[in-house]
Amino acid sequence: MIARVEPLTTTRRLSGPFDYALPEAPVEVGSVVRVAFGRQALDGVVVALADSSELPAERLVVPSAVREESVPAELVALAQWMAREYASTPARALSLVLPPPGRPRMRLWAQRTDRPLDGERLTDHQRELLAGLPALAGDQLGALRRLERRGLVTVLARAGRRAPLSRVLADRPVEPTAEQRQALTAVEEGGSYLLHGVTGSGKTEVYLRAAASALERGEGVIVLVPEIALTPQTVSRFQARFGDTVAVLHSALSEGERYDEWRRLRSGEARIAVGPRSAVFAPVADLGLIVVDEEHDASYKHEGDPRYDARRVAAERARRTGARLLAGSATPRPESWRGLPHLRLTERVNGRRLPPVKVLDMRGSRHPLHPETRGALAAARKSIVLLNRRGWSNFLSCRDCGKAWECPQCDVALVLHRAQDVLACHHCGHREAVPGRCDACGSLAVARHGAGTERVEHELREALDVPVFRLDADTASAKDAVSELLARFDAAPAGLLLGTQMVAKGHDFPDVTLGVVLDADSTLRFPDFRAEERTFALIAQLAGRAGRGPRGGSVLVQTSSPDAPAIEAASRHDTSGFLAGELARREALRYPPFADLIRVVCLSADAAPARAAAAAVAAAAGAEGSEVLGPAPLFRLRGRERFQVVVKAGRREPAIAAVASAVERAARDRAHRQVAFSVDVDPQ
Ligand code: ADP
Ligand code: ZN
Ligand code: ZN
Repeated sequence: MIARVEPLTTTRRLSGPFDYALPEAPVEVGSVVRVAFGRQALDGVVVALADSSELPAERLVVPSAVREESVPAELVALAQWMAREYASTPARALSLVLPPPGRPRMRLWAQRTDRPLDGERLTDHQRELLAGLPALAGDQLGALRRLERRGLVTVLARAGRRAPLSRVLADRPVEPTAEQRQALTAVEEGGSYLLHGVTGSGKTEVYLRAAASALERGEGVIVLVPEIALTPQTVSRFQARFGDTVAVLHSALSEGERYDEWRRLRSGEARIAVGPRSAVFAPVADLGLIVVDEEHDASYKHEGDPRYDARRVAAERARRTGARLLAGSATPRPESWRGLPHLRLTERVNGRRLPPVKVLDMRGSRHPLHPETRGALAAARKSIVLLNRRGWSNFLSCRDCGKAWECPQCDVALVLHRAQDVLACHHCGHREAVPGRCDACGSLAVARHGAGTERVEHELREALDVPVFRLDADTASAKDAVSELLARFDAAPAGLLLGTQMVAKGHDFPDVTLGVVLDADSTLRFPDFRAEERTFALIAQLAGRAGRGPRGGSVLVQTSSPDAPAIEAASRHDTSGFLAGELARREALRYPPFADLIRVVCLSADAAPARAAAAAVAAAAGAEGSEVLGPAPLFRLRGRERFQVVVKAGRREPAIAAVASAVERAARDRAHRQVAFSVDVDPQ
């Protein structure tokens, strides 16, 4: 027997697997081994065992080590699928399913032996110790060792869990409503579903019950959530109901915590994995259910290579394992709306209506706040204000010569951040001093245009006497900053939460009565076919945050495109109407879900090589039923010129294969050696 091993290198040039002799330690598909590769030693994953190799036996090298933890064979196969599906390499895909680095922390536990205590002479302290067993030995180790010598106790080393901290709420068992019961009956029968229900309609309760019945069948569960910091309540509710059976896999875990949670899942000690997109690779055996909460959330798309979409990977993993798939949202994606059978929760559990939404026309207005918004904010005790733009003002220009301040690395305007007193590029992180005068003509008249969260925060602080909490990437960078800020806002008797789209995600603040969206069409101005979908979701999600308590609520939407279909539909809470219109538009334009998009970006320091490489890719990327668009220039980013080719695929598989081989050929061609390539299947 021999082992076929995929070495984990990042280059695209090596493609395995390669044959190795079997080491002494047992290996199976999914074993992680250390192999000599050329002159270096690399980790590799065993992807197959075979009877023989084409290589002569004496040339087969033996792996030097086998790691104790292995990847489940199911995940090895999933990674291989992912490598093809996202035009990546097996090594890169496999690196996403590897056991995390680390080793177990052994702790000493003491437990009773079966030797009776009758007739033993024991002090009160010893009796007390014995009564408390089994327990961690801790500082009683000496006393316990003495009891061990008398045969009353055994002390042994066990892997301890470095438990991630979380705020565990009390579980509230509830009687399911008729709609919840219907949804659960459907899920029981198996298959994939979209659970469509407004915020507060009881979707999480459906997830919890579907998970409970999977556990009863002896199956495991994965629950995907957008970002743990923004959805602490969902995690807590799973922990409250299922206790230690829940493993939380989140990016802020320490290495030891992450290792322990992975191992608890791999050993079957924990049966429910909760986490953001990478939790789709959790080593859960006998998978029975995958839940995708807030399935519209953009964070499910991974921006590294492979650029996987956790929602698609979840669907594929469910298909391969026979697990049920339950994707839930108040604002589902057009793809899911068309592709999955719907389960509906039509009303909020507490019977409260969604708040009325009023659209305020900002055309011709020069101030960032409409007078009606000012009045409503002054009257509300607790409110949320969304503005999808960080900083003080979006761009600076000279009133005399027209110079605009741009990033030297990227062709985009620099944003003023007054607190740090810098101009910053939001794409590459470049920073420079705020100009006192125009360096082109010397004029002192440098104008600041537009308002971001920082400036609006300043204005609101002047105008209102409630505390203002700002939540955006500038205030949320420190670990735990987000949850702390949200907890402070939650606890405050009065306050205003202001920020970027982060403020519209899953929080549940019952005493918020007013929601405001400033510049609602900012997301519409992106040249992107998902602009409508994003705008609708943002407004509808914010509306879901307001008026959850007995005092009700209302929502104001400021926009200079009051007639845009996305804004209009959101103001009527008309999700199905919006999606029907959006699907018709996409069908006419051949956008997803009516065609698959594949995007190739070629990057180089000068424009010419990137353009030439993109032209070569475009010429070779066609396939039957595919439409190839481009090359088209993109704005310069991080000092690199960019050209993109977009393929609209009629048939997904052959189209991906054609693009992958076109890129591979171009990448190998010496003529394009200065060019970097990035392939994105299903770009967001
Ligand atoms: P969603 O996930 O759709 O926002 P939740 O599941 O969080 O909705 O439910 C909102 C609130 O209603 C929660 O406090 C939950 O405990 C409660 N709830 C859910 N289902 C029921 C039910 N059948 N009866 C009573 N309360 C319920
Ligand atoms: Zn000037
Ligand atoms: Zn830049």
